[in-house]
Amino acid sequence: MSAMEPSATGGGAGVRVSVDHDTCSGTAHCQQSMPSVFTVLNRKAHVRADVDWSMVDVAQLAHVVEACPWFAITVTTE
Ligand code: SF4
Repeated sequence: MSAMEPSATGGGAGVRVSVDHDTCSGTAHCQQSMPSVFTVLNRKAHVRADVDWSMVDVAQLAHVVEACPWFAITVTTE
């Protein structure tokens, strides 16, 4: 896979985001809330390849994690 393609995981600037494709149902809540980070392809959320992690609001990201109906998103910060 190319490094420029969306992936189940991504991160930078001390933030790491992972989407569990076994539980994600493709509701696209995450994409609607943070389209700069998430994109839904084939009914699975992916982390965009072009995220500017230095601009990502970690508090907003935490809200998106809580709002996922399937608890499919994991965020870790360093
Ligand atoms: S909100 Fe959760 S279930 Fe919906 S697309 Fe995003 S990761 Fe998947």
